Amino acid sequence: MNETAKPATRPLPRAEVMQIAAYVSGESKIAGVNRIIKLSSNEGAFGPPPGAQAAFAKVASEMHRYPDGASTELRRALGARFGLDPERIVCGTGSDELIQHICHIYAGPGTDILMTMHGFSMYQISGTYSGARVIKVPEKNYCTDVDALIAAVTPETRVVFIANPNNPTGSLLPQSEVERLRAGLPDDVLLVLDAAYSEYVDDPDYDAGAKLVDAGGENTIMLRTFSKVFGMGGMRVGWAYAPAEVIDAMNRVRGVFNVNIAAQAAAIAALAEPGWVEQSVAHNVKWRTWLMGQLNAVGITTLPSVGNFFLADFESDARAKQANEYLKSRGIIVRGVAGYHLPTMLRITVGTEEECRLVAAALAEFQARVPSDV
Ligand SMILES: *Cc1c(COP(=O)(O)O)cnc(C)c1O
Repeated sequence: MNETAKPATRPLPRAEVMQIAAYVSGESKIAGVNRIIKLSSNEGAFGPPPGAQAAFAKVASEMHRYPDGASTELRRALGARFGLDPERIVCGTGSDELIQHICHIYAGPGTDILMTMHGFSMYQISGTYSGARVIKVPEKNYCTDVDALIAAVTPETRVVFIANPNNPTGSLLPQSEVERLRAGLPDDVLLVLDAAYSEYVDDPDYDAGAKLVDAGGENTIMLRTFSKVFGMGGMRVGWAYAPAEVIDAMNRVRGVFNVNIAAQAAAIAALAEPGWVEQSVAHNVKWRTWLMGQLNAVGITTLPSVGNFFLADFESDARAKQANEYLKSRGIIVRGVAGYHLPTMLRITVGTEEECRLVAAALAEFQARVPSDV
């Protein structure tokens, strides 16, 4: 009797589920080290906004109540802050929840989802879970290649994901290229513009995605999150701005109480925190530039980035691993990105001034003390 003919003796997951490599999140602990410098998940340098912390504490006595399943006040606050119609916003348990729904609603078995070679891994996980085939399209210079994406479209293509800025590369696709991509995709292909790092971009031509959503094709979604510049990754709040039909579909399948009361209250307060984004962005530009300069000065190549993180290239897999271990021995956790087809690189989040100085010192020491064996 061959293997497949045997009756199952236990419940079996669908085959595509077992093809998924589980998401590897940024590490947060090192055995035997008390003080950890965690620069592995792009969490924002300043922690959570004080107003968000206060709002979180304040709703503690109300936790027996179900949240407003429609996140009405939060959507209103988002609409006011970003000049958008709250009716065309849907909130999620992080934008990760929304990515998953997009894949299941619009793709699924027998269809294709396109993403870029070094694109965010949740697209692959959620796309595969939906039953779709996820195709990674080559990039040009670590940036989305619009021509390659358009060329990869087939009649089976349903969804195209790009993160702009992209994580982990830090690259920015110019607005004219984003528009060229939209124009080059069939009208029935959904373009998802994941703008998790949009607040950090200071290019005057940049648009996080609302412009194309509003252009009327009814085929573009903008995704945003409170996990990065707003420092609320642990609260799990993301949101989408999308055409009415897309919002309607998402509201049918999303978790009914997906954003809990503490998350809603904290997110509303975070939006109201005076100067939060401005200060975060100013800090980020200053210290990202400084830290990249320090690494370059000791012979480590860095890739240009518009985000609150950047890639450092150690030229070989072995040397990247060595550098990672060396940083860990100093209590510093950065992100290995071999899973993103970037085995010679490490992704470093721009932390506080002190954290940046510690990274610079540790990597200078590493370059001086650890001989390159390549
Ligand atoms: C961090 C990140 C997200 C946000 O995920 P949440 O679920 O909202 O925490 C989405 N897309 C990209 C590219 C990211 O880097």
